[in-house]
Amino acid sequence: MKKPVLTIVVPCYNEEEVLPETFSQLHDLLIDLMQEELVAENSKILFVDDGSKDRTWMLIHKASLKTDLIRGVKLSRNVGHQNALLAGLFTAKESSDCVVSVDADLQDDISVIREFIHKFNEGYEIVYGVRKKRETDTFFKRSTAQGFYKLMQKMGVNLVYNHADFRLMSRRALQELERFEEVNLFLRGIVPLIGFKSTSVYYERKERFAGETKYPLKKMLAFAFDGITSFSVTPIRFVLFIGLASFFISLVFGVYFLGLKFFGQTETGWTSLIASIWLIGGLQLIAIGLVGEYIGKIYKESKRRPRFIIDIDSFNMPMKLPLRDNKDIIDESFHYDLRNVSETN
Ligand code: UDP
Ligand code: MG
Repeated sequence: MKKPVLTIVVPCYNEEEVLPETFSQLHDLLIDLMQEELVAENSKILFVDDGSKDRTWMLIHKASLKTDLIRGVKLSRNVGHQNALLAGLFTAKESSDCVVSVDADLQDDISVIREFIHKFNEGYEIVYGVRKKRETDTFFKRSTAQGFYKLMQKMGVNLVYNHADFRLMSRRALQELERFEEVNLFLRGIVPLIGFKSTSVYYERKERFAGETKYPLKKMLAFAFDGITSFSVTPIRFVLFIGLASFFISLVFGVYFLGLKFFGQTETGWTSLIASIWLIGGLQLIAIGLVGEYIGKIYKESKRRPRFIIDIDSFNMPMKLPLRDNKDIIDESFHYDLRNVSETN
């Protein structure tokens, strides 16, 4: 059987602390996979620099000069994890039979990539990496994340439970992914919509190897909110439901107040009046805000802006790359010890 060409796509944002280790671990893994005759010799690892402000691109660039297995794409600015990932997937698509996406921080057990390949060879087009337990996450992260998955499921969004963006996709699946032109990108929700023969592989999630999370609470909430409003109209239905309920309740109360008026006790309270004004006002604001949220999405989608812009691409264009930092001359005699990339300048 023909060995598949594999590309491992790694989005990176300010990951200088962890990259040397990531280079070396992924590099070793890829060498192993080649020796086991599981993947073709021209398989590669593609690092996407998502507009980092630290030395991330310099490290990627240097590593790519040291080994043919490592290539890089530099985006013109920070576009966020999902879009950076997409940039990598589409860059790799043409020249790969399958693409694996994994985070730079080595939280996902990269050794299961071997199992991904086995599944791919068995004919699966999409293989999801699913976390068995989340013991290493903080209690807060774990409960918010799991609550999020449950909530999404309740709202009718089809997600693979406990699966982040660690997955294998075949070229065919990527070609179909390209037809999803949405700007509000939530890959975990889109990929299951592609369909095809899919399966899951289970692994233990580890702690971040170095550096800190690029998803603080604020970004996490925004991500969750984006996921919900991009995929589900349940919030709008919910508002409609509340509106209807409060309408009927107010009808009942209206009858009651009229009753009070005609059968004697006329001093209708200021309290009920002001309370209902606040209630209705609040409801209207919620409703308008939510509708606005969806209109905002339509607005964004209708512009069809590019989702990412590539500055430098050493994956498809193997050429002398302009290096921002010119005093950085690469020592050709340097061995392939990728752990040392950061110490050679
Ligand atoms: N990332 C990115 N662009 C961003 C934020 C994050 O490319 O704007 C990358 C980051 O470098 C990492 C991956 O997305 O490889 C996941 O981020 P992180 O590990 O910080 O998220 P967490 O695992 O804490 O949810
Ligand atoms: Mg992480």
